Amino acid sequence: MKLRRAHGLVAVVTGFTLLLAAGCGGRTPTAMPSASPSASPSPSPSPSPSPSASPSPSTSPAPSKSPTPRPTTEKSYVLQRTSGSSGVALTFDDGPHPTWTPRVLEVLRARGVKATFCLVGTQVKAHPALVRQIVAEGHTLCNHSWNHEFKLGTWSAEKISSNMRATNYAINAAAPGAPIRYFRHPGGNWTAAAVRIARSLGMSPLHWTVDPQDWRRPAASTISSRVVKGTRAGGVVLLHDAGGDRTQTLAALPGIISGLRAKYHLIRLPDTF
Ligand SMILES: [Zn+2]
Repeated sequence: MKLRRAHGLVAVVTGFTLLLAAGCGGRTPTAMPSASPSASPSPSPSPSPSPSASPSPSTSPAPSKSPTPRPTTEKSYVLQRTSGSSGVALTFDDGPHPTWTPRVLEVLRARGVKATFCLVGTQVKAHPALVRQIVAEGHTLCNHSWNHEFKLGTWSAEKISSNMRATNYAINAAAPGAPIRYFRHPGGNWTAAAVRIARSLGMSPLHWTVDPQDWRRPAASTISSRVVKGTRAGGVVLLHDAGGDRTQTLAALPGIISGLRAKYHLIRLPDTF
């Protein structure tokens, strides 16, 4: 009764629409990609799903006849913009980070909240114990690229796939067997190729519904009020546990949790499907 209707499960975006979502915008990349090898290369992404033929030879040559030149559909893709239920999912990007991730985990643990962590490969490689801790404490994992490459989706299919697989490989080297069912593109700069390849590797392209811009470091009260006011049932909240000083995010977290819990269940995204 207290839950409002879950909004649409998915939203379609065209490939040309460069999403201006600013998630992680201020992040400074660290080491070089060095896309480390993947021991078990999964099947390479299918070359290209045919753009659906369009034969229909019209008898009369009337080029200007077709009434509505519909937008090209082969450029469209579907992003996941919901938790998949009426619950609200907190997601933390760019970690793991030795300073901030343990503190975020502590706040979540003290309040019995499970969340989702979108991990960057270089951070994973540098701090594998934190990945194990995230998993041990019952949170869900998400691939956030090898080194937070904002333009990953514009690369060749082979390079995109290699980047994603290297990240998954590092995550599973740290936490063997942990499922990685989500991929979130750095900056939300999705492309059709990134979506298709993430799916081919068994990962759902996870976007978000609420972005309080915590990486810009507004006051903690601003972050929490943006989240609490902006969240609806089924929402996915974008936060960061790395990529800069996360003092404000950390300070906002208790208020975010209590504010959201007044209306919603807080859930981790399911990874057992
Ligand atoms: Zn990010």
